Amino acid sequence: MVDTSVDLVILGGGSGGYACALRAAELGMSVVLIEKDKVGGTCLHRGCIPTKALLHAAELADAARESEKFGIKTTFEGIDVAGVNAYKDGVVNRLYKGLTGTVSSRKIQVVAGKGRLVSPTAVQVGDSTFQGRHVVLATGSYARSLPGLDIDGERVITSDHALELDRVPASVMVLGGGVIGVEFASVWRSFGAEVTIVEALPHLVPLEDEASSKLLERVFRRRGIKFTLGARFAGVERTGTGVRVSLEGGEAIESELLLVAVGRGPISAGLGFEAVGVSMDRGFVSVDEYCRTSVPTISAVGDLIPTPQLAHVGFGEGILVAERLAELPVVPIDYPGVPRVTYCEPEVASVGLTEAQAVEKYGADKVATLSYNLGGNGKSQILRTSGAVKLVAVKDGPVLGVHMVGSRVGELVAEAQLIVNWEALPSEVAQLIHPHPTQSEAVGEAHLALAGKPLHAHN
Ligand SMILES: Cc1cc2nc3c(=O)[nH]c(=O)nc-3n(C[C@H](O)[C@H](O)[C@H](O)COP(=O)(O)OP(=O)(O)OC[C@H]3O[C@@H](n4cnc5c(N)ncnc54)[C@H](O)[C@@H]3O)c2cc1C
Repeated sequence: MVDTSVDLVILGGGSGGYACALRAAELGMSVVLIEKDKVGGTCLHRGCIPTKALLHAAELADAARESEKFGIKTTFEGIDVAGVNAYKDGVVNRLYKGLTGTVSSRKIQVVAGKGRLVSPTAVQVGDSTFQGRHVVLATGSYARSLPGLDIDGERVITSDHALELDRVPASVMVLGGGVIGVEFASVWRSFGAEVTIVEALPHLVPLEDEASSKLLERVFRRRGIKFTLGARFAGVERTGTGVRVSLEGGEAIESELLLVAVGRGPISAGLGFEAVGVSMDRGFVSVDEYCRTSVPTISAVGDLIPTPQLAHVGFGEGILVAERLAELPVVPIDYPGVPRVTYCEPEVASVGLTEAQAVEKYGADKVATLSYNLGGNGKSQILRTSGAVKLVAVKDGPVLGVHMVGSRVGELVAEAQLIVNWEALPSEVAQLIHPHPTQSEAVGEAHLALAGKPLHAHN
């Protein structure tokens, strides 16, 4: 029996699902949003927001420790983990309250419970069935592990557990040098832990331009964050005080905790997707560029589909689906044009193609690059940060990619996004006067230099 019939039934209330719900409601659709935990999903409760609160606390710890460099006398007494967690949870709770208020003000019906797809137009929750003219799958992702690596939540943990720790561990091994791994490594190091990252690929943040990875590695080394690159996990055993992790090749590393940060897998098993005819690929729901699945009445968004696992990508996909269903004109998302930020210290931010991708697409002789050292940027010197803004462009043509490393450079990627997505020429950006002294000048100066008229260039 169908209990409720609406325009849109959304399964999963994370970034992708709730963004779709909000936009659809705004466009006049009746919406049911089914969520088994808390609206806001991973990003708000176990991802973007709590980790960035920890990173901000970590920045303050570093500032307190290093204040003498700025002529300020403070005494760093340590990390009050309960206090840090209260601050982090306070941020999450305030945002959660705001989000639930917005959702209810748009008259979205939130259903608490675990849903299962039972037909091309219906989701079942317990004994109730919710029928929609259309269904959106947005069940998100979970922290993956490796074969033979059991997560116990105590010594072998994922990011979910790491966010709930009630202490600063003396030592941590981080398995995986991607975004999540390096962010936690950065926090724990600032909080005083001994940190070792093990990454199977040749560099940290391996999806970034190699130059960014190398700059990050240089600063991490300076910060005392150890890392082993090109090394594969072989096994883990419990010791009296923690874990001993062995790597292929024989090396063994002991630490109090092992954080497993080897990627996130889609949540799709046992939810009825295949039975209803939704095409899948290794657990991900397959979609076209409009987020349409193989079943005409079903769309899918967010970490559940094989697009970049970022909250703002989920927002964008959710909005796209809502607008398509409302028969508004929509354009596919240009995924390389979506900005990416890793919020460790120093931050790594990028948009567009890496040098390697540009060379592959256009040929080495057609690609120009320029690296502007933050040593020439006044505000970066005031902050005492090092790093660079690297541009990748077509020779005598538009900018294809911007890659940045340095404290706070995440805030610069919004301008870089406009440059890349509007296919600006370096000479056009060079015309724009940037405010002094800001880090945004480094973006302007990089374009001045690529346009052949460098101002404060340092090498
Ligand atoms: C530690 C960490 C840090 C991150 N930091 C960032 C960052 O800084 N910036 C960024 O852009 N991204 C970040 N991300 C990624 C970001 O959180 C995800 O890309 C985003 O949350 C994906 O949104 P989603 O809606 O697809 O899935 P989710 O947010 O995971 O939401 C899915 C929702 O569906 C619910 N659900 C699942 N199955 C069912 C079911 N059967 N019935 C009912 N409900 C169900 C879940 O409870 C969940 O609430 C981070 C992730 C992690 C883990």
